[in-house]
Amino acid sequence: MRFLKVAHTFERLEKTSGRLEMTSILAQLFKETSPEEIGKLVYILQGILLPSYYGVDLGLGEKFVMEAISSSTGYSRKEVEDCYKHKGDLGDCAEHFVKNRRQLSLYKEELELLHVYDVMYKIATLSGAGSVQSKIKHFAELLNNAQPLEARYLVRYVLGRLRLGVGDPTILDALSLAKYGDRSWRDALERAYNICADLGLVARTFFESPEKIPSFKVQPFKPLMPALAERLSSPEEIIKKLGCCMVEMKYDGFRMQCHKQGERVEIYSRKLERMTHMFPDVVEEVRSLPYKEIIFEGEALAYNEREDRYYSFQETMHRRRKHGIEEASKEFPLRVFVFDVLYVDGVDFTLKPYKERRAWVEKFSYNVLRASFGAIAENARQVAKLFNSAIKKGLEGIMAKDLNAPYTAGKRKFAWIKLKKSYGKGMDTIDAVIVGYYLGRGARAQFEFGGVLVAVYNDEKDRLETIAKVASGFTEEEMVELKRQLEKITIPKKPNNLASNIEVDFWVEPQIVIEVAYDEITISHLHTAGKGYALRFPRFIQKREDKSLADITTVKEVEELMKGK
Ligand code: ATP
Repeated sequence: MRFLKVAHTFERLEKTSGRLEMTSILAQLFKETSPEEIGKLVYILQGILLPSYYGVDLGLGEKFVMEAISSSTGYSRKEVEDCYKHKGDLGDCAEHFVKNRRQLSLYKEELELLHVYDVMYKIATLSGAGSVQSKIKHFAELLNNAQPLEARYLVRYVLGRLRLGVGDPTILDALSLAKYGDRSWRDALERAYNICADLGLVARTFFESPEKIPSFKVQPFKPLMPALAERLSSPEEIIKKLGCCMVEMKYDGFRMQCHKQGERVEIYSRKLERMTHMFPDVVEEVRSLPYKEIIFEGEALAYNEREDRYYSFQETMHRRRKHGIEEASKEFPLRVFVFDVLYVDGVDFTLKPYKERRAWVEKFSYNVLRASFGAIAENARQVAKLFNSAIKKGLEGIMAKDLNAPYTAGKRKFAWIKLKKSYGKGMDTIDAVIVGYYLGRGARAQFEFGGVLVAVYNDEKDRLETIAKVASGFTEEEMVELKRQLEKITIPKKPNNLASNIEVDFWVEPQIVIEVAYDEITISHLHTAGKGYALRFPRFIQKREDKSLADITTVKEVEELMKGK
């Protein structure tokens, strides 16, 4: 497939905001894509080279991209820089300079999708002496052969700023539509995606041998999207919903997914980044487990034996970064409380009921790895007793689990229900993504930071919708730090997948997730979330570095919170 065809489709997508129309534009493109191409096309649409756990990131900074534009088109570095200052988007500049080239290449080849991907992969993986110059050279060669529109998207892609506004749900719909003319394969595709977190692999498998999709299996070193919990606010509601259930302590640590096959061990974070290097103490114990292959999940906390207390996620990670991993692990060794087992020696456990998986959890009784504490509760009184004992131990609450439920990868379901001590006491919070920020006025002017506009996710429309302007709750330090981070991800116009009636001083790439407390949820005509939901007295609590865009609160959850569930 010609890359020009892809570029034309991207241009159409950019001008579209309706989900149905986007799906049909994408499906048309997919229909013309070969099985070899589809996986790579899907990665490009996601704006990535490979899922993050491969550790291969698109890699060319702005400076080098400018150098490549200059060397390919014959304009000086200064001219390219001035254009960037003026337009605010290097993709638009590349398009302009390629259209008005000063220097023509002698021999031009039409760009093919697979060739573009391969060159981008080479650019990302070249290393060692002289690699920067050869990255620039490879990218300039792509630009030599590019049409103006292709140049626009090549530059945005290599910088990791494609921003087409196409989310994974839309890609999943379009795959089903392209191959079978309807959405009948949507659920099977989504399950496959949730158990491997690799949409390119799912797309390729679907185009090559669709019959493999319904029986897609969990595999070591393909992390599963984490199962998520719903919340309820009392033991009575939990029993009403689940009946007899397993009640476990809810540990506030670092959620990790451990994979072992033979001698190889990897640890993935909640965002599915490979974090193995941070946890040598855990790796060693996982390696010595009596299974050839295993995948399980647990919550890691640093333990202070002297004071018999656990450190939270923030403190645990802070210690490891500040004091060095070896030092920190000697002083406060880690404990990992295992709470689910998903795969053992070739057998996929994800469809088995929790009571069977829990029997495997209970086998964990080692030094670092231990079973999470849990007990069966048959009535609300027993749930309340377990909840009180969790609070007494300084934990944040409990997780009640449906004994008959499968592992709900990537989904927030009532298979797990959390009950925290903060619920119902005016301390409810949501996790929202920052989409823009304001400059300070008055006393805030010295920090040049006046607050942020945040959004939640509407999964029916596959778009972000604003819910609050957050201007309080920040310490001076947090303001300075946040402003510094936000400046680096400023973009010239509103993100394509955001619905907003509100203006900001600066739009940003939606990627920083924060926890926001509020007094109540009201309906305003200012915000676009659902029916115009807005937070009353929103306050910044903390950054949620462990969460990505995919984990933010949804409009449906906001509705539930509003009903007081
Ligand atoms: P919160 O913001 O309430 O801490 P969250 O939004 O990070 O939760 P949820 O999916 O809503 O994530 O809550 C489940 C989280 O609780 C899991 O991600 C996991 O990290 C943690 N957890 C702690 N103890 C357990 C347990 N026993 N079983 C399952 N998850 C647990």
